[in-house]
Amino acid sequence: MKYVYFFGTGKADGNGEMKDLLGGKGAGLAEMTRIGLPVPAGFTITTEACDHYFKHDRKYPKELRAEVAKSLAHLEKLTKKKLGDAKDPLLVSVRSGSARSMPGMMETILNLGLNDRSVEALARGTKNERFAYDAYRRFVQMYSSVVVGLPKEELEGRLRELKNRLGVKEDTQVTAQGWRQLVGEYKAFFKQKTQRDFPEDPEEQLWGAIGAVFESWMGEKAVTYRRVEKITGLLGTAVNVVQMVFGNTGENSGTGVCFTRDPSTGEKTFFGDFLLNAQGEDVVAGIRTPMHLNEMAKRMPKVYKQLERVRQTLEEHYRDMQDLEFTVENGTLYMLQTRTGKRSPGAAFQIAVDMKNEGLITLEESLERIKGEDVERLFYPILDPSLPRKELSSRRFATGINAVPGAAVGKAVFTAQEAEEWAAKGEKVVLVRRETSPEDVGGMFVAQGILTATGGKTSHAAVVARGWGKCCIVGAASLEIDAGKKVASVNGRVVREGEWITLDGSDGTVYTGQVDLIRPQPPKAFATLMKWADQVRKIGVRANADTPHDARVARELGAEGIGLCRTEHMFFKDFEHPERSEERQQAIQEMILADTTEARKKALAKLLPFQRSDFIGLFQVMDGLPVVIRLIDPPLHEFIPKDAKKQEELAKKIGTTREAILRRMEQLKEANPMLGHRGCRLAITYPEILEMQVQAIIEAAIDCQKRRIKVTPEIMHPLTLDKKEMKILADATRRVADEIISKAKVKLHYLVGTMIELPRAALLADQIAEIAEFFSFGTNDLTQTTMGLSRDDAGRFLPEYVDQEKSGILPADPFQSIDVPGVGKLVELGIQLGRKTRPKLEVGICGEHGGDPESVKFCHRVGMDYVSATPFCVPIARLAAAQAVIEERKSGKRRK
Ligand code: PEP
Ligand code: MG
Repeated sequence: MKYVYFFGTGKADGNGEMKDLLGGKGAGLAEMTRIGLPVPAGFTITTEACDHYFKHDRKYPKELRAEVAKSLAHLEKLTKKKLGDAKDPLLVSVRSGSARSMPGMMETILNLGLNDRSVEALARGTKNERFAYDAYRRFVQMYSSVVVGLPKEELEGRLRELKNRLGVKEDTQVTAQGWRQLVGEYKAFFKQKTQRDFPEDPEEQLWGAIGAVFESWMGEKAVTYRRVEKITGLLGTAVNVVQMVFGNTGENSGTGVCFTRDPSTGEKTFFGDFLLNAQGEDVVAGIRTPMHLNEMAKRMPKVYKQLERVRQTLEEHYRDMQDLEFTVENGTLYMLQTRTGKRSPGAAFQIAVDMKNEGLITLEESLERIKGEDVERLFYPILDPSLPRKELSSRRFATGINAVPGAAVGKAVFTAQEAEEWAAKGEKVVLVRRETSPEDVGGMFVAQGILTATGGKTSHAAVVARGWGKCCIVGAASLEIDAGKKVASVNGRVVREGEWITLDGSDGTVYTGQVDLIRPQPPKAFATLMKWADQVRKIGVRANADTPHDARVARELGAEGIGLCRTEHMFFKDFEHPERSEERQQAIQEMILADTTEARKKALAKLLPFQRSDFIGLFQVMDGLPVVIRLIDPPLHEFIPKDAKKQEELAKKIGTTREAILRRMEQLKEANPMLGHRGCRLAITYPEILEMQVQAIIEAAIDCQKRRIKVTPEIMHPLTLDKKEMKILADATRRVADEIISKAKVKLHYLVGTMIELPRAALLADQIAEIAEFFSFGTNDLTQTTMGLSRDDAGRFLPEYVDQEKSGILPADPFQSIDVPGVGKLVELGIQLGRKTRPKLEVGICGEHGGDPESVKFCHRVGMDYVSATPFCVPIARLAAAQAVIEERKSGKRRK
């Protein structure tokens, strides 16, 4: 097995496809070398070596030492320098890099190869003693903290003390002598803590660094990041050993990070930050606020032009927006990294559409570029634009750089740990920091938004937040933060821990208090891409909607009908006239508490007009599109108030006693309500409920039809068990419906169907389909009943089941993403059996899975006619349905 891959002077052992083996950075360096870009030479130790290291009790594969030695010799030959040499030393950087980008979560060591002898040579060679000793102290500092684990704060503290002693503020003012002193202090500290001398031998240094990079794969911050990002299945990190180039040799040098397009808007402009006379991580760490690339273009026009050419080459080569790192050493450009750039959801759409229009990618590729989360995040809230300007400006607290758009409202907290603690208690927080570091990732993840006083658009906070689509403002320079006292202040105005603040990530403004947020209008590129998705997809997309308002939203988002209207929601609330909700609640409660059929019918008669007008509202909005209406489903006890005062009030209103209510509740009590007297079981025992609901549906449909509004009602019975039950339900439904239709002397087409929510129903689907005209898989209940996991309580232990680093029994939460091997098998069988009886049987899904991309793809594969999702998931489903077709074309398999 080969563990080391070399690259340099136009040739590379690896290539850009080998991300799993070489990590993103290693693969990018190899590929850039191959296509002739200026990349310093070096070699990559594979992720397989890292995997071996952890699988064999932290031992390297035995071939590794020889392979590293060979590559190092090759590097020395190419560069005509030697590691640790007293005359012309080679210096290298040792960097981590796994297959998935984990910004700043793992370790890096720069300037390796410096020791007391080679530093002198570096000083002579560069004629810059100050630079050489600055490089040396950086190396000793990094090595001490990264390889040996000496506390960063103490090392930083010594640097601060030195500056105090010298009476200077900036690092750039420290002299060669000062740095030399600091190196001495660091080494003494090293010896005191480790009982050994700081390693002078460059080979020992190198192996120390390689081990530390491997170790950082299992470091706490990296493990947390992988957990929150759900990154699993990687072998480990690769290690890149690359010839050092210096961005800190003077005003003709610098280091930068840039994106080939604007990562916030997607606009095709070159976008990035550049720091003059700076090294390595200074830009990403966000410690100094950098200059924009436009400024760099003015200062270094030749290098900028070259960088612009690199930008074009890389975009054409990778056919995607790239995130680049580069260094300029004495006017010479070096590329240090290229990877697919993280982008805001709006930018994701813009870039996908633009690249297709530019002919860089195909229509299919543009659809594949968008993930479900991109769609979801597109609708993240923004500040309500109708808010009075005056009120807003009085609340203005600070401004910074708008790193990630969107808006966030939360209580200010000043440490990542507090963010996590407060969020665990259900609080909404905004994390306020001077700068964020990778250790903060857990707190950043749970925060609504992130605000930092320093840093640019490519700082750690910005990069990480952008990946999550989380609102983030950086570089709010006027902000003074005292993390110890837990306050932030600007010109005497103070925000304390726990006080509300609002971030507007679109323009970088911070407001005090809670400002109203609304959902934004999606950008034009969204509509374009969705249109393309609709051209490609084969299955329909409907929405789960119970109110005309939801139905309207669903249509705006592209729903082609309603796949599930849960009628019981209408019993709780009058959505059009909320002030009339109580009347409905009272009528349903009266119905439940009724002792006789007569009394029940009387109460139901009160509900009838409400239901009828609800259905009219839905039919009007859907204007001829199919509307699936499900009859009452939950157990009746859910409708009766639990607290004594409310029971007392109810008793008074409907002329009974609280005791009578309690008696009835006792009768309705069940040990397992989810498996109890619910679903169509209610209609079997109380047919008058079915009769009222069917009457309301049919009368509403006739009313609409008379007003020339087209209607196609589909009446759906939940939780049926078998054909016999279905027949009783269907007969009752048709009897009521047909009588009304014939009395009205109209023609009305309606369907009677069922949900498939029980394994037994799926197994007997051929018989059920003799009666049912359509199926809709209720996969919430079907998952619950197939897996024997309660949909309401399984959250207590499911995290353990789905955590791949714990038991990993399930690949994902089966209530979110359909369990293909188990529940999916029943769905597939149900469809096959149903269509055996009724070849044109309409089949859909209305469980939450209808809005989950992987589940939608499954629904496509098994030949469903449509999926139904909550309104805001409708675009996710449309896109996933198109992606399913593309995946199918690629695999060459045909859908069922
Ligand atoms: C289901 O069980 O999947 C379903 C859609 O019904 P409900 O969630 O209302 O039980
Ligand atoms: Mg259900």
